[in-house]
Amino acid sequence: MFRAVCGRICVALLFLVGSFGVGQQSQGGSADAVWTRLIAGNHRFLNGKPAPHDLTAVRKALTNTQHPQVAVLSCSDSRVPPEYVFDAGLGDLFVVRAAGEDDDPISIGSLEYAVEHLGSTVIVVMGHQRCGAVTAACSTGKEESVNLEAMIAPILPSCSKTDRAQPQEFDLAIRDHIHRVAQDILANSELLRKSSTEGKLTVIEAYYSLDTGEVTRLR
Ligand SMILES: [Zn+2]
Repeated sequence: MFRAVCGRICVALLFLVGSFGVGQQSQGGSADAVWTRLIAGNHRFLNGKPAPHDLTAVRKALTNTQHPQVAVLSCSDSRVPPEYVFDAGLGDLFVVRAAGEDDDPISIGSLEYAVEHLGSTVIVVMGHQRCGAVTAACSTGKEESVNLEAMIAPILPSCSKTDRAQPQEFDLAIRDHIHRVAQDILANSELLRKSSTEGKLTVIEAYYSLDTGEVTRLR
């Protein structure tokens, strides 16, 4: 009897633990502990061994609330979706995406919302290998529309790290841009800066390798 009852309940709990456990929702801990969990998810992803995700059960559990411990500002690149890259579940990541992980006021406002209203304690700024936005910015510095120009404008300062004639060196600009964005979101947000100063928020700089699927912490 107990085994029969426990069997059903335990299977249900395992699914829930599996879904919540792979991400960071409500798990707490230091920024380093959060990062360790993110990297564990990344290793599951790159090894092709994702955790079981009971999307239906978690979706229902999150109907009226969300407390994602991690916010991610990443590039819009179709090959770098944070939920896949970190093998995260529903409710685990508050994701803000723009080509070149640019931190315009809407992106920063979104991050402020995550920190102030949802309780996120870690922001991951994630760029990636062979980023098309950085390549566009550092190749010509010119685009076909004012909107595309606006997209590459924040990246241009990082292009000074490279030789425009040497695309293989653009990785230096990609990494520099990640660092600049991480600094800018604090410089341009009193709310985020205050949270960081008070030790309530940690900004992590990360780089995703298209070749390996691995995420590396830069700072
Ligand atoms: Zn990109």
